[in-house]
Amino acid sequence: MSRYFLTTAIDYVNSRPHLGTAYEKVCADVIARYKRLCGVDTRFLMGNDEHSQNVFKQAAEKGLDPLAYCDQMEQVFRATWARLDVSFDDFIRTTEPRHRTGVTAIAQRLYDAGDIYEGVYEGWYCVSCEEFKQEKDLVNGNCTLHPTLKPEWIREKNFFFRLSKYQQPLLDLFAANRGFLQPDVRRNEILRLIEHGLIDVSMSRAGQSWGIPLPWDPSSVVYVWFDALINYASAVGVGDRSKAEMFAKWWPADLHVIGKDITRFHAVFWPAMLMAAKLPVPRAIFGHGFMTLNGQRMSKTLGTIVDPIEAADRLGHDPLRLYLVKEIAFGGDGDFSWDRYDERYNVDLANNLGNLVSRVASMAHRYRQGRLAPTGAGSDQLARIAEQVVADYRKAMDAFALHEGAAAAYRLIDASNEFIAATAPWTLAKDPAAAERLGQVLFDAAEAIRLAAVLLEPIMPSSSREILRRVGAPAGSPRAESTGLNFDRDGRWRNDGERVLLNEGPLWPRKETSAVTDKPVPPDTSSPGARPTAGGPASAAPATPAAPAAPALVPSAPHASPDPTAAGATPADRISIDDFMKVELRVAKVLAAERVEKSKKLLKLSVDVGTEHRTLVAGIAEAYEPDALVGKTVVVVFNLRPAKLMGIESNGMVLAASPDGGKPTVVTFEAPPAPGTRVR
Ligand SMILES: [Zn+2]
Repeated sequence: MSRYFLTTAIDYVNSRPHLGTAYEKVCADVIARYKRLCGVDTRFLMGNDEHSQNVFKQAAEKGLDPLAYCDQMEQVFRATWARLDVSFDDFIRTTEPRHRTGVTAIAQRLYDAGDIYEGVYEGWYCVSCEEFKQEKDLVNGNCTLHPTLKPEWIREKNFFFRLSKYQQPLLDLFAANRGFLQPDVRRNEILRLIEHGLIDVSMSRAGQSWGIPLPWDPSSVVYVWFDALINYASAVGVGDRSKAEMFAKWWPADLHVIGKDITRFHAVFWPAMLMAAKLPVPRAIFGHGFMTLNGQRMSKTLGTIVDPIEAADRLGHDPLRLYLVKEIAFGGDGDFSWDRYDERYNVDLANNLGNLVSRVASMAHRYRQGRLAPTGAGSDQLARIAEQVVADYRKAMDAFALHEGAAAAYRLIDASNEFIAATAPWTLAKDPAAAERLGQVLFDAAEAIRLAAVLLEPIMPSSSREILRRVGAPAGSPRAESTGLNFDRDGRWRNDGERVLLNEGPLWPRKETSAVTDKPVPPDTSSPGARPTAGGPASAAPATPAAPAAPALVPSAPHASPDPTAAGATPADRISIDDFMKVELRVAKVLAAERVEKSKKLLKLSVDVGTEHRTLVAGIAEAYEPDALVGKTVVVVFNLRPAKLMGIESNGMVLAASPDGGKPTVVTFEAPPAPGTRVR
């Protein structure tokens, strides 16, 4: 059986984990769970980095012994990871004896190899980074990551590691293993750095008590970064004779998942240290991007920190995990916003997957007493799509394109919805001659859901189990716990076995949201209709019809073609350019669309207007299927006062041509400009 050892960065414990920290752990967890699903013997390591001066200071400020402080923080971190359903197999703390053993052994090996020498370090040190800084790293004398903190000028005895000696071996490593550092953008960055030449680096700090003493000079401790990197090997027993078998089984690591800011330590220092210690280097390092909140860096001082527990409490840990994996291309930077989070929950889970599960279960009960079995009467349309989806999914997941893996699973869910619409089981049910066909159609839909749930298992483990329970996954596939699934057996289309479906309440109840990203504006009381005062160049399918009781199109606006005679306008009726310019028209892209409950005419749209995402309501439901609008580029009145329609606050209006007695046609483009572009 093959094995897979993956790790995340270990975290400084001087503050609680935020959503950016959680993002890394969730993505690594998805990889770990995927490997287990594929039947690979997997070991997933996480941990805390405790030998930082900041931890020492933080503890002192709280009047605590540093170790007691680290004990407290360990509980904070563990509670967060438990809340997010992160399934690590091992959690290491750098104050543990096993880590001290590993660090001591590797330091000694480097020393014995002649790769360590004594010297004096004189220069800058940023305590927050725990990094030695060169003059060229500073801007206005400050660390770029900590612009409010003066770096310290230190002059002390340091032991240096001969990093310069490993320039060529590192270049050889990068050449021999193309996937050593991923994605390519990080690889290229680090390759340039190595090609530029490497200088020897400090590997110890003098005059400190918090850390692991050097075996040959106990008055110095191992520099915290050297110490931290070794955790990956000490967790599997490096330097401990009694754990030789374990180390031989698990080392080298298959994958280190880390943030893009620490690739230099992981892809330069770490392999060089291992080469010096005559140990194999890790097989791959993946540097993920950063997480922002509404486009802003997450920072305590800016108040832009998102607590992952709060996010999980809001909608559940699985919706949060799905957002982090599906909405952010793994490797790139990603943004979080509370509105977008709610929106994706409603679109992907409440309205899409959750609704699909409920519909199929309820039809199975209405037409087949909840029991489905293949009848052999039908096409293999859905099965063929499923086969392609599974292949795409595996390819994506094997290449760490987690977002593409999620997207593949959703292609199967979308195909199932389309399949149901096309086969119309409710019509088949009226025709006794179509009974076999109906049975197969319902079975196929249930099977597609089952398979999608298997594909989503690494991302949404407990939801996946719940879906499998509801669609009655066939006997022989244990589904009590995630590890019971096996991709080879369960990850393919199965046209066999009887399924007993459970018709229970919604998996993800819709979340009603205000969905307003900008400051709420009080509704317009002077003109309750909230029609724009200036006429647009095209008539509008009003997002804000005259009264909620009549959510129809208002055909009183000028004709789509700005032909003044057509509307019977005389020059006196015409408006000035200034009047027109009061209406801010902008290009917008439709991100999501859904019907407004109890309304025939209204669609609720979520649109990207360049600077933000907005919710608006448009009276175009009779002309457009919601799905047909997603991805379309339209024109919206950007500066319209918000108005409530059927309980939904609409923030803008979509322009559409509205022929008398006909259906509206939204204004769109042949070559769509970027969202936010002004239209005039
Ligand atoms: Zn810094």
